[in-house]
Amino acid sequence: MSAFEYRDGILHAESVPLGDIAAQVGTPCYVYSRTALESAYRAFEAALAGREHLICYAMKANANLAVLDLFARLGAGFDIVSGGELARARAAGGRAERIVFSGVGKSETEIRTALASGILCFNVESAAELARIGRIAAAMGRRAPISLRVNPDVDPHTHPYISTGLKENKFGVPYGEALALCRQAAASASLQVAGLGFHIGSQLVEVAPFADALDRLLALADTLDREGIGLRHVDIGGGLGIRYREERPPAIADYLAAMLARLDGRPYRLLLEPGRALVGNAGLLLTRIEYLKPGTPHSFAIVDAAMNDLMRPSLYDAWHDILPVAHRPAPARRYEIVGPVCETGDFLGHDRELAVAQGDLLAVMSAGAYAMSMSSNYNSRPRAAEVMVDGANAHIVRARESVESLFALERRLPVG
Ligand SMILES: *Cc1c(COP(=O)(O)O)cnc(C)c1O
Repeated sequence: MSAFEYRDGILHAESVPLGDIAAQVGTPCYVYSRTALESAYRAFEAALAGREHLICYAMKANANLAVLDLFARLGAGFDIVSGGELARARAAGGRAERIVFSGVGKSETEIRTALASGILCFNVESAAELARIGRIAAAMGRRAPISLRVNPDVDPHTHPYISTGLKENKFGVPYGEALALCRQAAASASLQVAGLGFHIGSQLVEVAPFADALDRLLALADTLDREGIGLRHVDIGGGLGIRYREERPPAIADYLAAMLARLDGRPYRLLLEPGRALVGNAGLLLTRIEYLKPGTPHSFAIVDAAMNDLMRPSLYDAWHDILPVAHRPAPARRYEIVGPVCETGDFLGHDRELAVAQGDLLAVMSAGAYAMSMSSNYNSRPRAAEVMVDGANAHIVRARESVESLFALERRLPVG
């Protein structure tokens, strides 16, 4: 059962009509389904039964505390990419020993804070970072757990902006340099080689690139094993795609079955860093039509959500289904669905056939991942409210920003 369905012609989130949410908190507004979040997580858990594992939710996909809290309660760890995310994960009840720290640009302060808090490991992305972590750990009298993020140079066949595992991308350590760096780390008194990992891109809709990457990673692990450098874990990253339109991503179970088959007979704990696959289809963006502007060659539906709320269409030319909250008998017309922001690139959808009137509500679907978390205040627009639906209850999990808060940190020059 989908978390978002029509009942008597009205789109609901679980048991709550979306119109009720709009009346209560206004628009634009993100709406998440607790059931959808939990069932995605449980699908991963079910497929991994019998294998020692840890699901480290890639929280950059959606970092609302209520979302993090749900996953933490289910036993998840977190994949973080900044000191801010570390603080956020801890504030949501995330346990440090379940946190992995990814990202190519970890600062001295971020490394020190993460090491002091006792995270599971640093996912190291370069030789220079490895040296920095070693130096900081030595100064703190600690041994830093590290896992090299290897760039396996496989083509994930996804959008170039979200491909990360090709040798021309900035991410990870080149495959050919990984062994030498592992040996170097293993010989250091301030570093502990915990594992090896990869993350090859996002919105992948085939199993083959994951399988190729894991095969390449395991070849490195086997070599290290023969040298007496035994790894505790392998980390297969995130990247599993979801259905936005007509994509046919592999089922979570099929993707993981292919991973588990390769790990058979090997002792490693399996770490995963799914983001989009856990949250993407568990959210929507609720928006209201401010104006209809019929014309040629385009008719426009101008809505109160914009690229600052949801930038994926503008950034990646991404498709999101856009559904009317209430069906109307009126004849349909094709619309450009655009926001109020002063950019031609401000659109949520092109050429959508809708039977709608001014004031109607629209739901921009599959907006649980890389949506609110990528939002901005461009055009001095307060960020949208966020609501989590749980059965028949809708909880505000982030209040709409006030306009005053947008410039509260700013100061004018002294007079004169
Ligand atoms: C973004 C990211 C993820 C999650 O990617 P999804 O495509 O959302 O699953 C996992 N690991 C790392 C290192 C990332 O940067």
